[in-house]
Amino acid sequence: MDFELNEDQDLFRRTLRAFVDQEIVPVASEWEREGRHPEEIIEGFRRLGLFGVTIPEEYGGLDLDRVSFALVFEEIARGWMGVAGVLGSHSLASWMIAKYGTDEQRAAYLPDLATGARRTGIALTEPGAGTDLQGIQTRAVREGDEYVIHGTKTWITNARHADPLPVLVKTSAAEPAHKGMSVLLVDADRGFTVSRDLPKLGYKGTETCEVVFDGVRVPASSLLGAAEGRGMQQVLSALELGRVNIAARAVGVSQCAYEAALGYSKERHAFGQPIAEFQAIQLKLADMATDIQAARLLTYWAASRSEAGAVTSEAAMAKYFASEVALRATMESMRIHGGYGYSQEYVVERLYRDAPLMAIGEGTNDVQRMVIARSLLSGTAKVGW
Ligand SMILES: Cc1cc2nc3c(=O)[nH]c(=O)nc-3n(C[C@H](O)[C@H](O)[C@H](O)COP(=O)(O)OP(=O)(O)OC[C@H]3O[C@@H](n4cnc5c(N)ncnc54)[C@H](O)[C@@H]3O)c2cc1C
Repeated sequence: MDFELNEDQDLFRRTLRAFVDQEIVPVASEWEREGRHPEEIIEGFRRLGLFGVTIPEEYGGLDLDRVSFALVFEEIARGWMGVAGVLGSHSLASWMIAKYGTDEQRAAYLPDLATGARRTGIALTEPGAGTDLQGIQTRAVREGDEYVIHGTKTWITNARHADPLPVLVKTSAAEPAHKGMSVLLVDADRGFTVSRDLPKLGYKGTETCEVVFDGVRVPASSLLGAAEGRGMQQVLSALELGRVNIAARAVGVSQCAYEAALGYSKERHAFGQPIAEFQAIQLKLADMATDIQAARLLTYWAASRSEAGAVTSEAAMAKYFASEVALRATMESMRIHGGYGYSQEYVVERLYRDAPLMAIGEGTNDVQRMVIARSLLSGTAKVGW
C-alpha cells in the first residue's frame, strides 16, 4: 500500500478541489439556508463526469479507482456534505447495476446514468426496518410477466429524481428472510409516489423522501441480474462501497472544520494576542489534525483494499472511525469559534449539523462495531499485517 496519491490521483484531486472552491464553497451556506435545489452544482457534476465514477468506460463512465472514488466524496463534502448525497447513492446503485445487472439492464441504464441524464438512488429502509433489513415489509408478488409491489420506503435520498429506483423487496415469504429478498429496478414512470420530503437537521441540498408503492407493476425483466433471492447479498456488497463513501465524506467535513478553526484561531484576539497562542487552543488543533489524518489514512486504506474484493471490516473501521472524528472535529471547531461558531454566519454551524448523519447512514456506528467484532472473532479480519 502506498501512503501518497499517485500522479493521476493527485491531478484529479486538484481538479476536484478547484471545482469545489469555485462552484460549491461560495454558495453552500446561502443555498442551504434558502433551501435551494443546487441545480448549477449538479450541472457541474455532469460536466466533470462525476455521475459515472463507478460506471465502466464502455458505458461512458469514468470507472475510477477506489482511492479516486473516495477523493470525489472527500473534496465535495469539504465544500458541502449535502450535495455529496446527490452522487452518493447514485454511485452505489450504478455500481450495483454494473456489477450484477443483466446485459440488457446495463445497456438500458448505464450510459444515461454515467452522464447524469438519468439519476438514481437506493431504497432499502422502511418506516419499521432500517438496521434490520431482513424485517422489511415491502413485497413484490409475481403475476405472469410482472411483479406487483406494495410497501413504503423511507429516508430515500434522491428518490424524487431516481429513474430507475432500485428497491429491496421480499419476493418470497417461504424462504429464510435473507434468501427471499430481491432488488427490482423500478422506472419512474411505473407510478411510485414520493409522498413527502423528510425534514432534516442537516444534509440539505439533497432531498430525502418517503416513497409509496401501491400496487406498482414492473416487468419481470426489472429483477436485478434476473436473480430472484439475491437482493440482500447485492445490497450488502454495495453498502461496503457506501461505507467508504461515507468515511470519505466524514474526512472532508472534518478537514473543513479544522481549516476553519485554524484560520479563526489566528485572527481572533483575546487578552492581547491571537487565541492560537493559547496552549489550550493549540492542543485542540493538534488533536483535530492527528484525528483527521488517521481517519484519512484508514479511509484510503479501505478504499484501496476494496479494489481486490470484499472489505467488510476495513470499510466498517473507516466509516466508524472517520464519522466519530467528524463529530469530534466539528464540536472542537465550534468551541474554538466561541459564540461565533453557533452563528449561521460561520461554516462550522452547518458542519456541526451535517456530521451526525455519517454516524447513522450506511449502518449505524454501533452496527459497524458489531461487524468489526464479528470479523475479528470469525478470523476473517485481523489487526496488523
Ligand atoms: C438523511 C438520511 C438519508 C438516508 N438515505 C437513505 C437512502 O438513500 N436509502 C436507504 O435505504 N436508507 C437511507 N437512510 C436510512 C439509514 O440507512 C438508516 O436510518 C440507518 O440504517 C439506521 O436505521 P434506522 O433509522 O431504522 O434505525 P434502527 O435500525 O431502528 O436503529 C435504532 C438504534 O438501534 C440500534 N440497533 C439496531 N439494531 C441493533 C442491534 N442488532 N444491536 C445493537 N443495536 C442495534 C441502532 O444502532 C440505533 O442506535 C437515510 C437516513 C438518513 C437519516
